[in-house]
Amino acid sequence: MAERITGHTELIGLMAYPIRHSSSPAMHNEAFAQLGLDYAYLAFEVTNETLEDAVKGIRALQLKGSNVSMPNKTVVGQYLDELSPAAKLCGAVNTIVNENGKLTGHITDGIGYMASLKDNGIDVIGKKMTIAGAGGAATAIEIQAALDGVKEMSIFNIKDKFWENAEKTIEKIRSNTDCVVNLYDLDDKDKLKEEIADSYLFAQATGVGMKPLEGQSVIPDISFLRPDLIVTDTVYAPRQTKLLEQAEEAGCKCMNGLGMMLFQGDAAFHLWTGKHMPLEHMKKVLD
Ligand code: NAD
Repeated sequence: MAERITGHTELIGLMAYPIRHSSSPAMHNEAFAQLGLDYAYLAFEVTNETLEDAVKGIRALQLKGSNVSMPNKTVVGQYLDELSPAAKLCGAVNTIVNENGKLTGHITDGIGYMASLKDNGIDVIGKKMTIAGAGGAATAIEIQAALDGVKEMSIFNIKDKFWENAEKTIEKIRSNTDCVVNLYDLDDKDKLKEEIADSYLFAQATGVGMKPLEGQSVIPDISFLRPDLIVTDTVYAPRQTKLLEQAEEAGCKCMNGLGMMLFQGDAAFHLWTGKHMPLEHMKKVLD
């Protein structure tokens, strides 16, 4: 008889739509199998319309917890009992933990980004960073970086529908942390060059570099970069974006979005199981 799933196996969900393409089920189930943990992780197609019932289901079926992705990340908070400080400031949740029926919402994307920096020997605490983006990934990074002690942050975004979100993010950072934060138009390339010039790290966290914007970069040329600048991209498909190609040519230390993906998963895994994923094994599997 098959013994992987028994009457004791605990369930962890992923609630999003569309979700069938996600690599999270494979990642978490591989980690459970490697560590011999009796959990199973399954993806459920949940929309805003079915979200409240799905969250009630976490309590009723005593799931250990769940991941939450689009379109539910910014909506699910209202159905939970408590939010982590970062989830509260981001206005988004990607991980739910069920402790005896009490549901707490966390956001692990920013934690994952900061952990992937550390894993690469990069220490941005007490230093200045420049970051492009004001969407889900960028906001999580900006809030977590400020909470963790980044000294100064220059945020750039184009003046699209995310601009207002960027304005809210800088207000939240200013009133909740000591980080000195400013917002600029990403189309002002002179300002972008000036802010990158005295930054320790430049983080790209927009959709530029992946489909349908693959082959494009937020910087016009490599005169924006210098060899001792660290350049990171949240994009992981493709692994090497146009920006990372430019950064490599300029001699910068580079990091793509794969580490953030792994470590946001690991942070959620740790919240549910109290254990870390077998990270070196997971890096080989994900690469
Ligand atoms: P989002 O839709 O919430 O935000 C999109 C961002 O891209 C906004 O800042 C928007 O202004 C910007 N943008 C869109 N078109 C642009 C253009 N033509 N020029 C400049 N900026 C433009 O998306 P998101 O969820 O924040 O994802 C952003 C990127 O981060 C995606 O590439 C995504 O794959 C990646 N991501 C990676 C991870 C990870 O774990 N590595 C996690 C989440 C997202």
